[in-house]
Amino acid sequence: MRAAVMWKPGTPFDVQDVDIAAPGPGQVSVAIHACGVCASDLSLTTSFGQPTPVVLGHEGAGIVTEIGEGVDSVAFGDHVVLVWVPPCGRCAPCRRGDDYLCANRRSSADARAGKAAARPSPLSVDGNAVHQGMATSTFAEQTVVPANAVVRIDDDVPFPVAAMMGCAVPTGVGSALRSARIAPGDDVAVIGCGAVGLNAVMGAVVAGAARVIAVDPMPGRRALAEKIGATETASAEEFGDMRGLDVVIDAVGHPPTVSAAWKAVRRGGTVTVVGAGRPDQVVEINAYELFHDDKRLTGSFHGGISMHRDLPVLVGLWRSGRLPIEALIDGTAELDRINDVVTAQQAGAALRVVLTPRP
Ligand SMILES: [Zn+2]
Ligand SMILES: [Zn+2]
Repeated sequence: MRAAVMWKPGTPFDVQDVDIAAPGPGQVSVAIHACGVCASDLSLTTSFGQPTPVVLGHEGAGIVTEIGEGVDSVAFGDHVVLVWVPPCGRCAPCRRGDDYLCANRRSSADARAGKAAARPSPLSVDGNAVHQGMATSTFAEQTVVPANAVVRIDDDVPFPVAAMMGCAVPTGVGSALRSARIAPGDDVAVIGCGAVGLNAVMGAVVAGAARVIAVDPMPGRRALAEKIGATETASAEEFGDMRGLDVVIDAVGHPPTVSAAWKAVRRGGTVTVVGAGRPDQVVEINAYELFHDDKRLTGSFHGGISMHRDLPVLVGLWRSGRLPIEALIDGTAELDRINDVVTAQQAGAALRVVLTPRP
């Protein structure tokens, strides 16, 4: 099968033939019909210590083509979304319902610490192992994952929309609904109008926010935010003067944006950081202010969303027109064009061009 291999950190993807093992016990094989290039994939190409060679990609959807021994949660022909935070179902976070924090998931931090992957990669070239990025490797025509790393989705959801439900949608919408716990009537700002930030804007609208302020340096991104429900927009400079907000969601996650968000929320307000900063970045918070202003500062990993529990909720909101995900998709492209798609998205010329390894 064909897949986009990154041979060395920071080098362009090579779309080439890659061997893939058949699914073992408890595993499934999925033909990838759509996958998005998420900002995290691009971070992994350079700055998170991702071992190479690797097939990246974690925001994907497709059809189950083969099931391993003992799998009964999905069947041949099911449409599925890939889950890059597969829950083991047995650890303490899984048992309390926070399965996106599963203690048995291997992360890029584990890779940096030299820990082995949770299972051998099914991918290889000329007999040499190729890493499976974020345990999903969706920049490929086919992937093999544990059965708990897929969740069934209704057949009427188009594959590009289903793919985005694998990362940008739960991360962004979840940051608003679950992590920030926006209440009806809240004044909310979202910093950064990439795919996650725009999904946070939609989540804030769904939560009943009174004002939804979309903050981004790019006029095109601000216009798109207004199209999907933001009540107003601001540049970074304009946002710097804002005070008294109930909630700020930071979809950038770098120290300057976290500090700006912290200043902009009222006493008792909430800052939720859903953007991924670099592992070496530190945010300074005034200790007295932290006590006195009684503000809440929360992270938001995968939007606090349990895919196995919450995907039907997201699909329901999409079907009712309240999550206009199609508005965030610029178009589709064959897997061979992955480097062009990366360039366009990094330059801000496109928000999401969804790749279609199996059109
Ligand atoms: Zn992602
Ligand atoms: Zn677990």
